Amino acid sequence: MELWFTENQTSDLRLSFRVKQLLYHRKSAYQEILVVDTYEYGRLLALDGAIQLTEKDEFTYHEMITHVPLYAHPLPESVLIIGGGDGGAVREVVKHREVKSVEMVEIDEEVINVSKRYFPSVSSGLKDKRVSIKIEDGMAYVKGKKKRYDVIIVDSTDPVEIAKVLFEKPFYRNVFYALKDDGIFVAQTESPFCKLDVLKSAYNGIKAVFDRVWVYWGVMPTYPSGMWTYTIGSKRYDVSSPIRECDVSTRYYTPEVHRSAFVLPPFLKEWISTV
Ligand code: SAM
Repeated sequence: MELWFTENQTSDLRLSFRVKQLLYHRKSAYQEILVVDTYEYGRLLALDGAIQLTEKDEFTYHEMITHVPLYAHPLPESVLIIGGGDGGAVREVVKHREVKSVEMVEIDEEVINVSKRYFPSVSSGLKDKRVSIKIEDGMAYVKGKKKRYDVIIVDSTDPVEIAKVLFEKPFYRNVFYALKDDGIFVAQTESPFCKLDVLKSAYNGIKAVFDRVWVYWGVMPTYPSGMWTYTIGSKRYDVSSPIRECDVSTRYYTPEVHRSAFVLPPFLKEWISTV
């Protein structure tokens, strides 16, 4: 009998993977965690039924959410990652020699444990000496911090339940205060095809706090629609081009990809010009 994992990407859209083996399935204090080995995309991690990563395509997302803000900053020494318990964003951030400290604030310790066990190639960076892991809610952690970080990255689940606060204005305001005077903030802001409402509300929320805001995009085959957006708020720098030479090894990110990610197709550009 064939075994399949299906993600309900919207109420009218599903994506299915033929499964070789079920590796892990348990409920943590916060969410249902599932790891399956699939024929097409290798191992896959889902939280509450939503795909977080697959071995085959995770690099596109993790490289774009990290190297774009880090190469737009002249000296990113202090980095905060909120969410991201799988360790993929950390793995990319620690590739930068300039980085002296990375704090990763993940609410659910079990996601970290599962990633260490089933996704060693994703979680490898968590062992880096510069990394400290806090098991806490990202909103509570960032509140009250002043001018501490060069770059803040929000690698969260969709804006429901525990992650909802990470898509709201009070959180963006706290992030603004936690950044140094030339700091950069980036968040994953979902698919413009399936969740344009989320992108719009995140963009408006970030724009209410940061003077300089951009949306950029990348390919992410196993996320809804395959086209993924990231919204970036910057206190000082124009982030649409890298300002340091690319000196890390990547499979998706290059300086050309960085620049081209900020070139938006008309259907997105027109909407942003009306905001
Ligand atoms: N790249 C993924 C995506 O876009 O679907 C996200 C991956 S990462 C596994 C997301 C993590 O955010 C989860 O492990 C979840 O526990 C964590 N998270 C959700 N809400 C959080 C919060 N309020 N504070 C800290 N971590 C949170």
